[in-house]
Amino acid sequence: MGLIVQKYGGTSVRDIERIRNVARRVSRMREQGHDVIVVVSAMAGETDKLVKWAKEFTELPDKREYDLLLSSGERNTSALLAIALQTIGYPAQSFTGRQAGIITDSAHGKARIARITGERIRDALTQGKIAVVAGFQGIDEKSDVSTLGRGGSDTSAVALAAAFHADLCEIYTDVDGVYTTDPNLVPEARKLDKISYDEMLELASLGAKVLQTRSVEFAKKYNVSLMVRSSFNENPGTLVTKEESDMENVAVAGIAYNKGEAKISIIGIPDRPGVAKRIFRALSDANVVVDMIIQNIGKDGLADLTFTVSKEDRPMAEKIMQELKKEMGTREIRVDAEIVKVAIVGVGMRSHTGVAAKMFETLADVGINIQMISTSEIKISCIIAAKYLELAVRELHKAFELDKEQARHEKRYPSR
Ligand code: ADP
Ligand code: ASP
Ligand code: MG
Repeated sequence: MGLIVQKYGGTSVRDIERIRNVARRVSRMREQGHDVIVVVSAMAGETDKLVKWAKEFTELPDKREYDLLLSSGERNTSALLAIALQTIGYPAQSFTGRQAGIITDSAHGKARIARITGERIRDALTQGKIAVVAGFQGIDEKSDVSTLGRGGSDTSAVALAAAFHADLCEIYTDVDGVYTTDPNLVPEARKLDKISYDEMLELASLGAKVLQTRSVEFAKKYNVSLMVRSSFNENPGTLVTKEESDMENVAVAGIAYNKGEAKISIIGIPDRPGVAKRIFRALSDANVVVDMIIQNIGKDGLADLTFTVSKEDRPMAEKIMQELKKEMGTREIRVDAEIVKVAIVGVGMRSHTGVAAKMFETLADVGINIQMISTSEIKISCIIAAKYLELAVRELHKAFELDKEQARHEKRYPSR
């Protein structure tokens, strides 16, 4: 007997029948004697619909109002699940982010959880109730509603699991677990039994939306046992856990991609100290997160700078670049949203050589041009034209033998 946090994503609560299915799953956990905190997402497509509605008025809606709007999808599903549980005889109570005591900073749209007070959840559990929490949201110090970024219900769940010292945090989604790459893009992708926090962190931050990056950061920091499973079957899922010694057997554990970025190039800016500072300070003051950056070697006192931001932040980043254009004498601003980032990840890269060469060779062999490259100890990522996404991921998956029965990761996951 212990405390379990379960999170159900959008497809798992897509309609009333699926909410009923979730209620049954939750009740089974309760029958086993566990206390349960359930975190729910909005119904699949709901948040997108709300985004679209706001964008009917403006590309840059007021962030406070936008967050209040977006948080509403999760309020609906949490209340519906509590009602569903009550009707099958399980006392339950739903909580908004505010009622759950999830306090965040004021970075609307990408707020970070500062602390969780959680009194009402504690009270509900003490009274033998199932606590159903609306994911993806909190409130800031001014009591304004904040949201945690797309996919943020994962983070609500892991943060609650950490705050309540839960024995396990289960993330229920529409795939059986974490795969070597997105199984919806590459059917040959294979499910992993285990993956290290660091690899999962890289995969998530590089675009594998099966878990929100911040949720993995929390899990690693607070050592939360995280299990990714499907809400549609009883398959065992993938455990996200501490690195184990045999995980280095394989150079590449998985491949991620991100279609959600845009590339901005500022051509002909002065090649002198302070210019990059001015640009990236302005972006950071506007809470725009910059991913990759490259600057070419200056020529005739001028340089070009290229960086990537999320497609969501593109209008804001473009606006800031336009505002700075005059002050800096920028010759031209180019925006390319038809790009994609493809990345290979593995803790084994620390000890294997030739991994980058193999990646570049594989892309070159099928005629794919690499526009930007970035590396860290356990990942290599490339920006390429969006039209090559599927080809690139499939070829890399093959080249690193992630699809094979006898693949090196079999050694690492001997149970399969
Ligand atoms: P939820 O709505 O349950 O939060 P998401 O759509 O956010 O679900 O995340 C699940 C999706 O993540 C899968 O349907 C799959 O397409 C995608 N995905 C991307 N990379 C991976 C991966 N390596 N393993 C599993 N799923 C992945
Ligand atoms: N509903 C939010 C989204 O679609 C949060 C989540 O599902 O985790 O991004
Ligand atoms: Mg998600």
